[in-house]
This record gives sequence, C-alpha cells and structure tokens, in this order.
Amino acid sequence: QPITNHLPTAELQALDAAHHIHPFTTQSELAGKGARVITGARGVMLRDSEGQEILDAMAGLWCVNIGYGRDELAEAAARQMRELPYYNTFFQTTHVPAIALSAKLAELAPGNLNHVFYAGSGSEANDTNLRMVRTYWAERGKPEKQVVISRWNAYHGSSVGSGSLGGMKGMHAQGGLPIPGIEHVDQPNWWAEGGDMSPEEFGLERARQLEAKIDEIGEDRVAAFIAEPVQGAGGVIVAPDSYWPEVMRICRERDILFIADEVICGFGRTGEWFGSQTLDLTPDIMTIAKGLSSGYQPIGASIVSDAVAEVIGNCEFNHGYTYSGHPVACAVALENLRILEEEKIVDRVREDTGPYLRQKFEALTDHPMVGEAKIVGMMGSLALTPDKSARAPFAADAGTVGFMTRERCFANNLIMRHVGDRMIISPPLVISKTEIDTLIDRAWRSLDEGM
Ligand code: PLP
Repeated sequence: QPITNHLPTAELQALDAAHHIHPFTTQSELAGKGARVITGARGVMLRDSEGQEILDAMAGLWCVNIGYGRDELAEAAARQMRELPYYNTFFQTTHVPAIALSAKLAELAPGNLNHVFYAGSGSEANDTNLRMVRTYWAERGKPEKQVVISRWNAYHGSSVGSGSLGGMKGMHAQGGLPIPGIEHVDQPNWWAEGGDMSPEEFGLERARQLEAKIDEIGEDRVAAFIAEPVQGAGGVIVAPDSYWPEVMRICRERDILFIADEVICGFGRTGEWFGSQTLDLTPDIMTIAKGLSSGYQPIGASIVSDAVAEVIGNCEFNHGYTYSGHPVACAVALENLRILEEEKIVDRVREDTGPYLRQKFEALTDHPMVGEAKIVGMMGSLALTPDKSARAPFAADAGTVGFMTRERCFANNLIMRHVGDRMIISPPLVISKTEIDTLIDRAWRSLDEGM
C-alpha cells in the first residue's frame, strides 16, 4: 500500500519512528506517542492526521510570513518548472528569475546593499559570509584580518561554519565546533544576565564587550562582527536601547564589517522590511532566507554593499552552491515579495495587527508565571519565572517549565516554542485580530494549567 495521508496515524508514526531522524530532537521524546503528523495547512492553521486544527504561532520555523496555502506561489513554481526547471549561474550564464529577484532585493534592501549572492538556506548564506569577509580583507591587502566575532546564544545555522558562528554551546559540544578564527562575546539578555544594572547600563556594558574583544584580538586581525538584530532562536532576546548605537559606533571606528543576520528579522517580521531598519543598523552584509520565500522553497542569500561587492567582484570568489539562484526558488521568492508588497502586509504589521498583538501579548505579564514580555513586530517572548521581582529562575532544571508549557500549548492546539524557560512566538504576518485573540487565549490557558 502506498504511504499517503490515508494511512492510520499510528502506522505513519511507526514508519516515521523506524526510518526518519528528526533534527534537534531527542528521539526518546517521541517514544510512546510518536510525532504529530501534519497533513495540510491554510492561513495560520495547520491540520494534523487526526483532523485537529492547530494555530501555528511559529509560522513553521519563523518562515511562513504570508501564511499557508497561497496558490499563486504554487503556480509560480509550476510555471518556472515548465519553462526552465534548473540552470546555474556559475560560468558566464544567468537567467531571468535570478536577475529579477536580485534587482527586487536591491530595491528593498536599505542603503547601499545592492548585490546578491544566493544560497540554498540561511546556513549556507552565513558560510558564504564567513568566506566573503575573509576574502574581502585579504583582497584589500590585509590578510591578517580573519577573525569573526559573534555572540553567545546566537543562532546562525547548523553547518560547520555557520554553527561555529552561532553561539549555541549545545551545538559546539558536538562534531568539533567552533572552527578556529571565531570568537564570541556575551548576549544583551538583560532579564537573565543584567543583575543589578539598569537595562541601559547593561546594554552599554554588553556592547563594550565587543570593543574589549577587538582590543584583545587586535583590530588588524578582526574581519567582522555578526549578529541578529533581534536574537530569534536564542529566545527572542531584544537588546536594551543603548546597545545597538554603541555596537554600530564600534564597528565603524574599528574598521570591521558588520553582518546583520536577517534570516528571521527580514521580510516584515519586525514591522519594517528588515530588522536593520527597525533598529537603525547599517550592515555591510545582510543574511536572508526563510521569509524570502515564506518557506515555500528553500532559498537563502547574502545581500552585499557596493563596497564589498566591488572587491569580491574583482577577484574570483571560489564559492557557490549547485542551487545558488535556483530558478524555481527565485520565481517563488519573487511572487512572495509581490504578495507582501501588494497586500501591504509589512505596513499592516507595523501599524495595525502588530500593535494589537503587542497589547495582547504584553498583557500576559498579568499572569503570575510571566515575568517579562518582549515583542518587536511579530516576534515575541515571555520569560517564565516563579518570582517576577527577583527575575528568578525556576528551581527545576532550566527549561523544564518551558518544555512542559510548550507541551500544554501543543495539547491545546497552539504551536509555541520554548527556549529554556522563555516561550516564543513568531506567527504568520497575515494573522488576523480574531486569530490573535485565539492565540492569546490558548497561551493563557496553557500557562494556567501549569499552576
Ligand atoms: N540565521 C538565523 C538567524 C536563523 O534563525 C537561522 C535558522 O533558524 C539560520 C540562520 C539558518 O538558516 P537555515 O536553517 O535556513 O540554514
């Protein structure tokens, strides 16, 4: 019998358990219950093999910005597959989807970011960035400028290069990460690490760690600093207001490149096209993926400034992926951008549904378990705590309460993620006010059931 949606759930789960290794999953988590089988989706709602409707407050993995089930994207993919399903842009050829998408991205991206290098994912794009910034300085006659500074608890991908750029200690513990030439400074997470400092003092202290690290390594050995405008997978950590202006000053004064990893923050998530616009950052390179195609096709890219592109364009950059600028992925991304633009989805996040979500989400701090609620546009997090005034962690192992809360959300047909004891959301940007009410009701109920 073919394996289709029509098989009983238990049979699908047994086959899944027998043959499928899930990413970032302890397989024993699934023992006895099996993975939930998702069979379809529309708007912000997923459907599982038992016919349950689940509100996806994570937009898949922070990516389905325009929501599920848009036929226009399926049609764009089918059209492109018929016309030119594959060709590369390596050896003096190009194609219309790559040309059109590059021009569109240059128009949308801020400042002098006008040049696009494609990849198949965010991880691949960050691997590109690592090699590109090192090549940039070598070509400029400064081959010693090779070290890239990142932050602990940052997430920049899962490949060896991008996982090393990331600051996830659990990832570093497996498979020989980080590779040499990457250094980390502390994250600006005031709730967990701010101690007695005010958020503003703490923001400055954390920014100045970057300057101290540059001094320690030597300015002539540092190529770049990479950071997410708002740390996503680290728990939606929003830096205090004092942090970013100081970081920008340091990058400029110390002559190091700044890479903004916009894989989550890009394409409307923060209420502007890019998180760099919301936070007034001036990157030399931006990493993009996820919302670029709303997840309908795997695609990532680096958008590069005129100055960096001029240097890289004048050497042979020995780098590229078979699927760099895949025509079907580019065509789908273009259609996705058309929908974001024509339906004014980014404006709605900034002016209408974003403020509505903020008001409802911040009201969750009335719940006894919620210490702080942080939200920028449509990415938010709740810090769970047994004692709000002390900003205290739970006595149980870090993350246990978060994990149990996530399990209860799941049982209540709400997908929220937990990072330690922070609960996070990143819903499709098309979520309606009624659906926001449902999200908040289910979150409140799931918190209450844990009291
Ligand atoms: N950068 C950030 C900020 C991310 O959140 C992610 C994925 O979650 C990545 C990079 C890696 O992207 P991908 O999973 O497409 O390789």
